[in-house]
Amino acid sequence: MRCVWCRNDVAADLGISSLFLWNSRPICRQCQQLFHSLEKELTCPGCGRLMEEATLCYDCIRWKEVDSYFPVNQALYVYDEQAKEFMERYKFEGDCAVAFLIKEDIKRALKKYLKQGYTICPLPISKHSIEKREFESVEYLLELSKIPYLQIFDHIGKGKKQSEKTRAERMKLQQPFVLKDEIQLPYKILLFDDIYTTGKTIRLAAKLLQEKGIENVKLFTVFR
Ligand SMILES: [Zn+2]
Ligand SMILES: [Zn+2]
Repeated sequence: MRCVWCRNDVAADLGISSLFLWNSRPICRQCQQLFHSLEKELTCPGCGRLMEEATLCYDCIRWKEVDSYFPVNQALYVYDEQAKEFMERYKFEGDCAVAFLIKEDIKRALKKYLKQGYTICPLPISKHSIEKREFESVEYLLELSKIPYLQIFDHIGKGKKQSEKTRAERMKLQQPFVLKDEIQLPYKILLFDDIYTTGKTIRLAAKLLQEKGIENVKLFTVFR
């Protein structure tokens, strides 16, 4: 059997016992630590990015100057070169098996929010992306992790995807989401997305909740 990420044979590496785990895929020892975890690092309390001290980063300070509505974000891993390669393979090449690399960490992290009464609400991907036969890559991470979720948004944005835009273009982004018709909003919501780059996308989604008077909103992204 081959590792989902590096495709090396894992039998010798892991021993035969770990090859027969249900609901799992082989991941070699080296690839089990592929990403830089933020769990034990000092991070920005606003967006969860890696910091030398746990103070608000420059981006968050700028955000707060223009908008007092500022739900905090937690992230699992640093969005480094390895993470970029992962997203390329997962999202754009549609290699779903690589999601097994992160599903256990996602599950562990989100269970804490579920225990606190949060409903997990993923961001939908654009229709434009679906036309290009991409899949609901954010929802799929939750399904694989067996985390219950509620889709409260429709994506109405069009044009270039976020990853193809410059920072200036991203900051000009118009509201790409609407709330689904007649959706009953939970009163504690954790918005879930794959990457926090400028934070614009997930914060626009949060805005819709603010307009509906939902005060208990937090953000969670896999990468920051
Ligand atoms: Zn490997
Ligand atoms: Zn920050």
